Amino acid sequence: MPPIPGSGLAKGLAVTLRTMTRKSVTAQYPEAQPELPPRSRGVIALFDENCTVCMLCARECPDWCIYIDSHKETVPAAAPGGRERSRNVLDRFAIDFALCMYCGICIEVCPFDALFWSPEFEYAETDIRELTHERDRLREWMWTVPAPPALDPGAEEPKEIAAARKTAEKLAAAQRKEGEHQGQDRDEGQSRDQGPGPAPGQEAGE
Ligand code: SF4
Ligand code: SF4
Repeated sequence: MPPIPGSGLAKGLAVTLRTMTRKSVTAQYPEAQPELPPRSRGVIALFDENCTVCMLCARECPDWCIYIDSHKETVPAAAPGGRERSRNVLDRFAIDFALCMYCGICIEVCPFDALFWSPEFEYAETDIRELTHERDRLREWMWTVPAPPALDPGAEEPKEIAAARKTAEKLAAAQRKEGEHQGQDRDEGQSRDQGPGPAPGQEAGE
């Protein structure tokens, strides 16, 4: 049966009428900011204090867009007779976000928790060279990394936090002990300065 002339137009208008009364799901960015999940993959942040220059992230990156430079430094022996150690010092850490495909492999493989996802995404540039974020800029993104989710009730304390807590407790105990010793030394010094007290049964000043 041949189609009725104008039926296509009527169907199209029906769809238009149906959808124009529904609430819009699109947001007028940038006037309206999107509500992104906190774990969105916006940009990669570098906590460079944790980076040991192991190069794992740069080696595993499928796009070869992580650039790392470093040099070696000799650390003197901690105790007399001990051996000197050498350690890597980070000189440059950069990520080219014009090449990055946001796969997250670098973050997954980093054994020292030096890389994190931040949900920030507003870093578009008119010059592609500006999309290579150097160490300082990557470090700045750390301030936008959301805190880790809370642990389940009764969950085991993470090893890193337990170790940090024990160290803090040991330091606090050592400081307390030192304070007590200093207090004792002060008391002893004062009693020495005052000389021997009055003999039993003798009033002071007699
Ligand atoms: S997210 Fe993927 S592509 Fe981007 S720097 Fe990390 S490993 Fe490379
Ligand atoms: S994997 Fe982590 S520790 Fe190793 S170089 Fe990359 S950021 Fe630094």
